[in-house]
Amino acid sequence: MAQRRTRRFFLAAENGKDMLKKLARRSGEEEFFTPVPKGYERGKQKYIFVTGSVMSGLGKGIFAASLGKLMQEQGYRISPIKFDGYLNVDAGTLNPFRHGEVFVLDDGLECDMDLGTYERMLDLDLSEANYLTGGRIFSRILTAERKGSYLGRDVQFIPHVTGEIKHFLRELAMKSKANIVIVEVGGTVGDIENQYFLEALREMMYEEGKENCCFINVTYILEPGFLGEQKSKAAQLGIRRLMELGIQPDAIACRCHNEATEKVKSKISIYSNVPLKNVISVHDVDSIYLIPEEIKGTGLDRNILEKLRLKHREVQSSKEWKGYIRRIKNPKKTITVGIIGKYTGLRDSYASVIKALEHSATHNQARISIKWIETTDIEEGKLTLKQAFDGIAGIIVPGGFGKRGAEGKVQCIRYARENNIPYLGLCYGFQMALVEFARNVLRLKDANSTEISNDTTHPVIDILPEQKKIEGLGANMRLGGRDIEVREGTRAWELYGKKTRIRERFRHRYECNPEYIGRFEKAGLVFSGKAPDHPIMQILELPSHRFFVGTQFHPEFTSRPLSPNPLYLGFVRACLAPK
Ligand code: GLN
Repeated sequence: MAQRRTRRFFLAAENGKDMLKKLARRSGEEEFFTPVPKGYERGKQKYIFVTGSVMSGLGKGIFAASLGKLMQEQGYRISPIKFDGYLNVDAGTLNPFRHGEVFVLDDGLECDMDLGTYERMLDLDLSEANYLTGGRIFSRILTAERKGSYLGRDVQFIPHVTGEIKHFLRELAMKSKANIVIVEVGGTVGDIENQYFLEALREMMYEEGKENCCFINVTYILEPGFLGEQKSKAAQLGIRRLMELGIQPDAIACRCHNEATEKVKSKISIYSNVPLKNVISVHDVDSIYLIPEEIKGTGLDRNILEKLRLKHREVQSSKEWKGYIRRIKNPKKTITVGIIGKYTGLRDSYASVIKALEHSATHNQARISIKWIETTDIEEGKLTLKQAFDGIAGIIVPGGFGKRGAEGKVQCIRYARENNIPYLGLCYGFQMALVEFARNVLRLKDANSTEISNDTTHPVIDILPEQKKIEGLGANMRLGGRDIEVREGTRAWELYGKKTRIRERFRHRYECNPEYIGRFEKAGLVFSGKAPDHPIMQILELPSHRFFVGTQFHPEFTSRPLSPNPLYLGFVRACLAPK
């Protein structure tokens, strides 16, 4: 009966003009309120919903991206979307120490680091249509409510919030022309934050039909050291929470350190009504890029395509991908790179930097080992520069904000410059390299960035003119992809394949103060990249140094396994080259 009603509803939505008009409004009396974008055809696109149980941080994004990659290899067009339950409108104001790196898309959206995983694994450029937070949904709804768009109706979680979510997903499906939309729900089943989202997905399944949707739960298998045995109870209870919400998973991915045992998989299977063949082990491997082939080995991609009534094609990965995997598995050497930062306690704060290093190292058949250097330790004298640089082939000063740890970074940059140690400075690292050069080469003793000190006599880094009027902190930095003019004959020009125009992604408020450009250049520093229409300096290099490069942008955001970012490649090659 319910099925019939839904079908009727859909037919009306698709064919009836009046119904469409009604749906275009934000509400109506009908409880089936679910705004369907114009021209949407049910069944044309399929959906895979990925949720998590037991705990967060299981790598749902990596799993979802890997599954997507397998389907992409078979010729399906994939569009991923991540949902974050936070009330933040985007991820720009989230502290990377708590939440991991803030990733930036070409269109300027500041989002969760999982979008970086999707871009890298699927080799796609994503947009704001691929990320949705609770805050964004609610701000849309509240804006509409203030405009009177709900026509006197009480605005409710069901149908309005869930309706807004379903609309967002269907719009993505249509716009991206995806065959399969992969929806990852951040957090864990049972969190208050994502409950309305899970409800929206349950409704999606009901409205779209079972053959068009598939639920996968990524769960965690405990293996306490004191027992030396895998335990499935937490996973069982977590999955049960999902079922209590009316969602029957079609597959379970068991995240675990060692391969999940048959016993554990059978227990989960019987407890959750999921056929054993769809309960798979996703255990730890050396690199996330090995996960697609692990999943392929379980046959899960085939089973899911079958469930979605899509053809499974027996295909091989591309020659390039296979070569990449081969090199990951057989590294010839290891290089150690120092990352000088203040969030070094949480590796996730630098996720894209690490991945970009890995891409470049793999291309050179090398493995990267990271030495984390906490700048405040250097400032407080807990660590000498000599100790910090011990065993290191090169250093990176990544992006950063505020003044804590800045002086320690300046000291490290000086050491790298004076000792001919490869240096890559990213955004804040570009700015601190200029501060260091101004102080120690130009002899401007108290040179600084006005982000750090307002009363310096030499503000070599200053706030961008367009930033001066801005108040508040949300989504208002100089953000996203921009074109950069590269100067011919420079190292950057060589590395970017002699291109004079490139595009990279930015996230900053400060820049090299144009008044000092001449002095820097006179002293031998080369600005090899600048904004096309403004005197905003974007790449710096020291020609006399083995490798000393800074970028006002974040080259790590555009690095992909099969096309590593050229500056990272240059840096890694310099680290590998004999002195
Ligand atoms: N805090 C600096 C700025 O706003 C650098 C930002 C960054 O490293 N992303 O310009």
